[in-house]
Amino acid sequence: MASDTRPDLLSLTPDELRETLARHFGARGQPGYRTDQVVRWIYEGLAASFAEMTNLPAEERDALDQAFRLDEPEAATVQKSADGTVKHLWKLSDGELVESVLIPTQRRLTLCISSQAGCAMGCTFCATGWGGFDRQLTAGEIVAQYRASRRWAEENDYGAISNIVYMGMGEPLSNRNAVHPSLTILNQGYDVGARRITVSTVGVVPGIQELAQRPEQFKLAVSLHAPDSGLRRELIPLEKRHPLPELMEALARFDAAGGKRITFEYTMIDGVNDDLALIEPLAELANRVDAFVNLIPFNPIPYQDWKPSPPQRIEAFRHALEDRGVTAAVRETRGRDIDAACGQLRGHTLVQMG
Ligand code: SAH
Ligand code: SF4
Repeated sequence: MASDTRPDLLSLTPDELRETLARHFGARGQPGYRTDQVVRWIYEGLAASFAEMTNLPAEERDALDQAFRLDEPEAATVQKSADGTVKHLWKLSDGELVESVLIPTQRRLTLCISSQAGCAMGCTFCATGWGGFDRQLTAGEIVAQYRASRRWAEENDYGAISNIVYMGMGEPLSNRNAVHPSLTILNQGYDVGARRITVSTVGVVPGIQELAQRPEQFKLAVSLHAPDSGLRRELIPLEKRHPLPELMEALARFDAAGGKRITFEYTMIDGVNDDLALIEPLAELANRVDAFVNLIPFNPIPYQDWKPSPPQRIEAFRHALEDRGVTAAVRETRGRDIDAACGQLRGHTLVQMG
């Protein structure tokens, strides 16, 4: 298959998009308002083809189609969980598969998106990690998950997407060239407030520093999972490259940059990282950078026989953290029946293949 060299409009930031379209229409002797028309079709109309842009002359739609791409991945499957969680499996133009998940709660509709096909980090508790890395997603492929999910949600009475989390497949801060523009596009183009967008990282320190420097108040979630370096190293290979003290320093700077709340994600695995003695050091780390702690029951994966910590143990952690002045919550597992829960994405497909 010959590769498509037309620039992908969905990968451009709003400024780049306007510039590109103005140049295109200028060269064709078209009026300036054509640019505004197309920009509106993309950001407000969520148009997925130039053919939809019915207020443009047919020859201009054809010319756009020859010059640019505006394609979205097709939904290979859509699965709906008993609890309302919806998982889309997207087939990208080269056949790669990535997933996004819509999670409705009483007051919110959260969209969980993927930033890479696979992941190179190899965390031992994560199905994506076991599957290995395939390739980076483009900014357009990240944004397209939002556009297509938003359209699906509107058509299926799920309402408006209120929050976006980069917690699907992949490590977003290992794909900074695409993730940074995607943040700009979602925020400035599609008008999703920065405080409603969370980037989740396993601890890629240079990426955290870069995010801290951005003027917008995107939220940061850090997958901590262990409050000491030795234990963390057993779960997260990246700990060897960016050990906890270095990570904490970067987080202290992120915190000092102001306004952006840090969340610690702590996946609780029975007999692995749920010893009560870990509460004290965990509380100390959380207090140091004013982090909110999310306790997540481990979702069993096909690659090893770990189990989630019992609910009483998770509750004991939450309680003891609160006692030490740390705000903590237990995150309920959603979409388990369709493998939509954290760390399970893509697991099924890989197991079937293997
Ligand atoms: N790579 C990023 C974002 C994707 S993973 C990161 O690691 O933060 C999203 C979240 O799911 C992370 O907090 C990750 O630690 C968690 N997770 C992965 N596997 C899990 C599992 N089996 N059970 C519970 N949480 C898991
Ligand atoms: Fe990658 Fe995050 Fe899974 Fe680790 S937990 S392997 S960083 S997706």
